[in-house]
Amino acid sequence: MNRYDVVIVGAGGAGLRTALEAARDPSVKVAVVSKVYPTRSHTGAAQGGLNAALGHVVPNDSPEAHAYDTIKGSDFLADQDAVFFMCEEAPEVVYELDRWGVPFSRLPDGRIAQRPFGGASFPRTVYSADRTGHVLLHTLFEQALSRDNIDFYNEFFLLDIIHDGKRVKGVSLYDIKNGEVVVLAAKSVVLATGGFARVYWQRSTNAVGNTGDGVAVALRNGVPLRDMEFIQFHPTGLARTGILLSEACRGEGGYLLNALGERFMARYAPDKMELAPRDIVSRAIEYEIREGRGVGAGVEAYVYLDLRHLGKEKIKERLPQVRQLAMDFEGVDPVKDLVPIRPTAHYCMGGVHVVNYQTSSTSLEGLYAVGECACTGVHGANRLGGNSLIELLVFGKFCGIAAREYAKQVDFLPISEGEERKGYEYVANLMEREGKESLALLRRKMGQIMWEKVGIFRDERSLREAYEELSELLERWHHVPVVDKSKVFNTNLLEVMELRNMLELARVVAYCALHRRESRGGHYREDYPERDDENFLKHSLVWWDGQDLKLEYIPVKIIKYQPAERKY
Ligand SMILES: Cc1cc2nc3c(=O)[nH]c(=O)nc-3n(C[C@H](O)[C@H](O)[C@H](O)COP(=O)(O)OP(=O)(O)OC[C@H]3O[C@@H](n4cnc5c(N)ncnc54)[C@H](O)[C@@H]3O)c2cc1C
Repeated sequence: MNRYDVVIVGAGGAGLRTALEAARDPSVKVAVVSKVYPTRSHTGAAQGGLNAALGHVVPNDSPEAHAYDTIKGSDFLADQDAVFFMCEEAPEVVYELDRWGVPFSRLPDGRIAQRPFGGASFPRTVYSADRTGHVLLHTLFEQALSRDNIDFYNEFFLLDIIHDGKRVKGVSLYDIKNGEVVVLAAKSVVLATGGFARVYWQRSTNAVGNTGDGVAVALRNGVPLRDMEFIQFHPTGLARTGILLSEACRGEGGYLLNALGERFMARYAPDKMELAPRDIVSRAIEYEIREGRGVGAGVEAYVYLDLRHLGKEKIKERLPQVRQLAMDFEGVDPVKDLVPIRPTAHYCMGGVHVVNYQTSSTSLEGLYAVGECACTGVHGANRLGGNSLIELLVFGKFCGIAAREYAKQVDFLPISEGEERKGYEYVANLMEREGKESLALLRRKMGQIMWEKVGIFRDERSLREAYEELSELLERWHHVPVVDKSKVFNTNLLEVMELRNMLELARVVAYCALHRRESRGGHYREDYPERDDENFLKHSLVWWDGQDLKLEYIPVKIIKYQPAERKY
């Protein structure tokens, strides 16, 4: 059994940034585990950029203004101490990236350029054309490869964490290349496994691997999850596929038009127009469609993104990937055509409950969570565009320090033979399982239920139905066989395991959404259309007690800004 001071599961922006910090002390041995080759992590798909108040374009921007925008954007559900921490640390982590070699887009005088983004009061989003995540991920990976004390476990799948109820002792992994199960002993384990917006299977911007494995593992082990009802729908998904067109489209000046050619955002956010936050713009699009001002009807309906007035040169320079995606997947060229778009599931505000945002520690000693799989409390009920990448860099950095320093203070805990065999038995049982249920059918049904009943608009009846139907699907999952019996790259087995993780989380989302009887940020209840600060200005905390889901609420940390009406 290999032993590491720090094992980080996930090699996206969060995992790699954490690894760089954990490995800063050469005596600390670090392992990074990833089910895909690191550069294929979803961070690489991020387009628009990351927020930091550098004040390069408008000098009077400040971390304070960044913090206020974030808190207002969160519909006042953000923990303000964590937000201030993130916004104050943001400029420094951007300059670190600059020094590591990220090729940011520049102003004519050579300083890092910044573009406007939704819900932001200044142009604050640092970017690299519309391929920001790609350059960021590659640069972090290069840096990590250059450290002698980081080992990569590429194409290993997390099966479970090993712990004694109080402290974590290691992880069990499935080696995708040869079907073996291996255990790594660890003093600190960091979950950095990304989001789970693939629970909206048919309409999501997320990579197919964003199945929430780390979050589901935490749940099954009794670690609480926070704010799971809050899912972000991005306004501009391509109509047919849900593939993302970056918020940079609107940041650079794009319009949204209905079938009548009206810039309909004037009805919903007269000041900010297209640059209102995502929850507001997504609902506006859906209202237009409902009221017959979209093109087509039902699931096929859409409205338009208009970039034509930006001109070919600007589109080619600032939005090259957006143009290519529109041409490849919708058959239109934004230089001369309108682009059919509709909201699409994009981001999970909730995740593994982080108890202390300065260390990213969870309720289990030695276990940390960082990146989209974590809930640090900075996004509240709605995340601002550009705030996820900055979150994972800032909190990754400090999580790396905490995981490293903790590991230096403690010894390895012994792992028994039984504990070592558990992962192996899980896989062996799945491989032998017989049953008549279909993986593809269950997955599609889950996607439909989530879109129709736990989507942009929700109500008591639909959420109750969704919870029951998802529970039934979870039951049926036990009868999904692994048809492929091979040990080499058995994607069938992986998909069966991922489906379980998604179903468990989908059910939690429905459960928490059912119990939040108000509307806030990304969670909109048609039967409770108002925000209800008196009863629901609080975070939800959900966990599995071995038998049932348990739900509690904890206070929001309000240290400066009192909740106010959210107008744009
Ligand atoms: C299309 C798109 C565009 C976006 N654009 C922006 C943007 O412009 N600005 C912004 O701020 N945010 C953006 N976001 C959000 C942001 O990119 C993500 O929230 C962020 O990159 C998540 O990073 P992460 O490191 O937490 O997870 P990921 O990058 O998703 O990485 C997860 C890692 O965990 C590993 N993993 C997962 N499960 C397992 C398992 N079972 N076993 C082993 N390893 C596992 C994966 O292999 C991967 O390495 C965008 C998101 C999408 C989908």
